[in-house]
Formats: sequence, structure tokens, C-alpha cells
Amino acid sequence: MKIPRYRDTRLFIDGEWRDGVEGKTIDVLDPATDEVIGTVAHATRGDLDAALAAVDKGFKVWGATSAFERSQLMRKAADILRERAGQIAVMMTREQGKPLDQAKGEVLAAADVIEWFAEEARRTYGQIIPGRVPGVMQMAIKLPVGPVAAFTPWNFPINQVVRKLSAALAAGCPIIVKAPEETPASPAELVRAFVDAGVPAGVVNLVYGVPAEISEYLIPHPVIRKISFTGSTPVGKHLAALAGQHMKLATMELGGHAPAIIFDDADLDTAVKIMAGSKFRNAGQVCVSPTRFLVQEGVYDKVVSDFTHAAKALKVGNGLEEGTQMGPLANERRIPALEELIQDAVDQGAELKTGGRRIGNKGNFFEPTVLSTVPKEARIMNEEPFGPVAVFSPFTTLDEAIYEANRLPFGLASYAFTGSADTANQLALRIEAGMTTINHNGLALPEVPFGGIKDSGYGTEGGSEAINAYLTTKFVTQMAE
Ligand code: NAD
Repeated sequence: MKIPRYRDTRLFIDGEWRDGVEGKTIDVLDPATDEVIGTVAHATRGDLDAALAAVDKGFKVWGATSAFERSQLMRKAADILRERAGQIAVMMTREQGKPLDQAKGEVLAAADVIEWFAEEARRTYGQIIPGRVPGVMQMAIKLPVGPVAAFTPWNFPINQVVRKLSAALAAGCPIIVKAPEETPASPAELVRAFVDAGVPAGVVNLVYGVPAEISEYLIPHPVIRKISFTGSTPVGKHLAALAGQHMKLATMELGGHAPAIIFDDADLDTAVKIMAGSKFRNAGQVCVSPTRFLVQEGVYDKVVSDFTHAAKALKVGNGLEEGTQMGPLANERRIPALEELIQDAVDQGAELKTGGRRIGNKGNFFEPTVLSTVPKEARIMNEEPFGPVAVFSPFTTLDEAIYEANRLPFGLASYAFTGSADTANQLALRIEAGMTTINHNGLALPEVPFGGIKDSGYGTEGGSEAINAYLTTKFVTQMAE
């Protein structure tokens, strides 16, 4: 296959692709080969001030653009993205590592998200409230909250941006996106689709740099009215506190540690097939990745054995190679982190069924890993591995499984497989998580809610409620003269 050239990434501020004012850049590495494949411009204070001035100006233009026109432009951006999906997917695989088909799927899914929010833009309905006296008209109208600062991670370089960007634009809000330095080119292509669709200068701005420096400057700034962050729980808590201190609205999509509960009355082949696919997708670097596999005693050995078989059969390699099912980890730093978590589990009595090690010495490849009978005290039963590791433990009763599912402070995704409608209903109501998917994997479509509770954050980034995070309700009452 002829590999298209990887583009160096520049900042996008006030309608222009620019280098940082201080001329700094950061290298971008291919996680499959360790090679430097390009650079990304690094924003400093001068660039952030320019982006803030641009987004302030952008609000005057975009807030005054009709919802109908915003919607039209967004649909055009979605079409452009679809046309370029193949080309963008190659860039994403090179910088992030995921197999090419998963990268292309991500770009196409992003186009669906844009279209969903384009439709929602035209439905930001308010209310007319009956007055107490004749002649009084009471109205609740929905208005954009104002300029947004969004911070997104490297695991889904486009999809983590597109939910925030599309919801903001649909609502009439301009945005500054601080996209991931590790995977800069593909989110820049997302922005390019909006630029080529005709988004006015200042409405979409894109920066990279030192994440903490950028968030500490943008969040308190008076121009910014809304924050949206996706990333780890500790960073999310820090940014939410900063947002609170400056009275900024915030949406927080943070870490998880999803339980996957398999009952002995489930269709086991389906459960193993779907769960192995979900666990090892994107090398497990997914906030909704199933991690704690709780399996009812009677079928425990069979499920662990079948799952281990599925893990061993996976083809791990460079995401650009035909047939690769799992690529490298995006960041080298995750390798020692995973090794430590696995060693700790084994030291505490877990059985390593397969995997557990780095593959080779070039690229960040890691074996698909299965740990069985892992004690609750092991770190991996409590900390998000964010890698290709499935952790199994048996349970006896429904109550025991629910207790374990709810034991951790996280509450993002949860999975279950059962043939019983009663068990399914109980799980739906009693599992403490923002999302529960039963007997299939139906998470993350644009039209359904997406978000967590407890330490996994707050706010939803999908479904009909998502646009509300970018709208404010204004009450107007008027008396006929
Ligand atoms: P990390 O906590 O260093 O960074 C996570 C993300 O937050 C990165 O994109 C980073 O650039 C950004 N970030 C970090 N500090 C920031 C700050 N002060 N202001 C603004 N942005 C900041 O972790 P990591 O090593 O990159 O990833 C590992 C952990 O991050 C995982 O264990 C997982 O919990 C979490 N994570 C979650 C998601 C998700 O989809 N929810 C995605 C990526 C990472």
C-alpha cells in the first residue's frame, strides 16, 4: 500500500493555519515503529491570547447565524469528512496505532455525529408559559452559552473532539479545542472539514501545547463560558474544581472500570465474541472498555477458557498491515504501567492465562492479556488499566455481582449477558453506571446518551440532551401595551 504523506500539524486560529508565535514544535511518533513522523506546533501565551480574541469575535458571528444555516454548514462538513475518510484514517493509524479499519470507522462515525447535531441545531425549542394576567407573554428561550474550551485525549483523536465541537457549533457556540499532542493530524483534518465547509473565522480554533498550561490559562479566562474535558479522573477533578472556582459550566467525561457480568443462562458464545471484540478494540484504550469480567460460577471455567482462546487468536501488529486486529499502545508510558498492574495481580494470587508482556522491542506492542481469579485487593481490580487486559473473577448470586459492579467509585459503562428478563431488568435499574448494555454492545451511537456518574464525571455527550450542555435558558416576560 502506498502510504500518503503524514502532514505536520499547525495551530488553527482566527481562520488561519499558523505556527506558534514562539516557533516551538513537538515531535509526533508512530507508536508502531517509534519513528518521528512529523511535528505539531506548540501554542504559548501569545497564541492563546489570539485564540481567545478570535473565539470572542467568533461568538458575535456564529451566535447570530441562524440555526438553519449552522445546520447546513455542519452537514457539508460531514460530507467532506466522509469523502476524505480513507486518507484521514491512514494519518490516524500512523499517529495513534489503531488498525486502519477502526480508524476509518472512527472518521465515518464522526460524520454521523456531526449530522446528528446538525439536526439537533434546528430543535433547540424553548417554551411559552401561560401568563397570570391577560396580555402577559412569558417565554423561556434557549441561547448559546458562549465560547467553549474543550480538552480531548489521544485514544479517539477525532471522536473525542467531534462530540464537543458539533454540540457547541449546533448550539451557536464557538470553540477553542486543545487536541492531543500525541495524535494531532487527524483532529486537524476534522477541523479542516469545517473550514472547507465554510465555517467563519474565529468560530473553530485548534491549539496544542502543554495541556496544564493551556487549561490553567483558558478555564479562568472571562471570554470562556463553558469547559468540556475528556480524560482521566484525577485531571478531570482538577479541571472541574478550576471551572467551579470561576463559575464555568463543565462537562466531564472521565475514566471508567466497566464491569461485564456474564450469567450462566446467557448465550455464552455471543457474550465471549462481543466482549473479546470490545475489550481489545483500540488495544483496550477506551474509557468504556469492559475490564472486570464477573462470571457466574457454573460457566466460569468455560468463559475464561473461550475468552483466552479469543485473546490468543488476535493478530497484533502495525495497524497499516492488512488483517491486523490490534495495534500498539499509543504511548510508551502505558507499557510499564500495565506490567506493574499485571505483576501486582499475579503477586496477589491471580492466574495469568495469557499475555502479560511487551511484544518485541520496537513500537509499543503489548500482548492481549487475560488474568483469572483476581482478588479484589489487586490494584488492577481498582485502577483503570487502559490497555488490553481482561480481569476475571467468579460470582454466585445476582446481588453479589451487583455489589461488585458498584464497588468502585467509577460509573461509566457496564455490560451484562443473561437469558433472564428479570435479571436484565434488575441490572438496568441497580447497576450504578451512566450506561448499561445488555446482551449486545449498543453504546456510543450519536442519538443515545453517553456519559458517566460518580467519579466518571457528569453530563452527556450524546442523545437529545447533549446539546443542552451548550445552551442556557433565558426567561423573557412581556406585557402587551
Ligand atoms: P493523563 O491523565 O496524563 O492525560 C489524560 C488526558 O488529559 C490527555 O489527553 C492529556 O493531554 C490531558 N491532560 C492531562 N493533564 C491535563 C491538564 N492539566 N489540563 C488539560 N488536559 C490535561 O493520562 P494518560 O497517560 O494520557 O492516559 C492514561 C489515563 O488517562 C487512563 O488511565 C485513563 O484513565 C485516562 N484517559 C481517559 C480517556 C477517556 O476516554 N475517558 C482517554 C484518554 C485517557
